Amino acid sequence: MSFLPDELKTQTFPCPNCQQYISSEIGKCKFCSAEITSDIRQNAIAKETDEKRAIYLKNQKNMLVFGIAFLAIGLVAFLYPIISVRWMGTSFSCLSPPLVVFGLGVIIYSLLGYYKEKRKI
Ligand SMILES: [Zn+2]
Repeated sequence: MSFLPDELKTQTFPCPNCQQYISSEIGKCKFCSAEITSDIRQNAIAKETDEKRAIYLKNQKNMLVFGIAFLAIGLVAFLYPIISVRWMGTSFSCLSPPLVVFGLGVIIYSLLGYYKEKRKI
């Protein structure tokens, strides 16, 4: 965690000329010596941020699918106990509760992350 606003932090972005990742603090690409003007820098950083954001949102969506799958397996295991234990005269699946809880946790976590990131423009 840092208390510096994002624009003051050093960022890396691909050089528009050679695509090598360079630091935002330098005025010249250290690989191909291309001049990095502040316009180029701003555009490259904005593009890089967009790409990172798109990847993050995609990951959150994949995680949501995982969560739903775990929840579904948990519910199915609840109805059709694959591994069940008998306790106090009733048999219930010992696989089901952790899967349901884990699935719900993953769903909530991925949705929170997704909407938090979506609101940032
Ligand atoms: Zn370069």
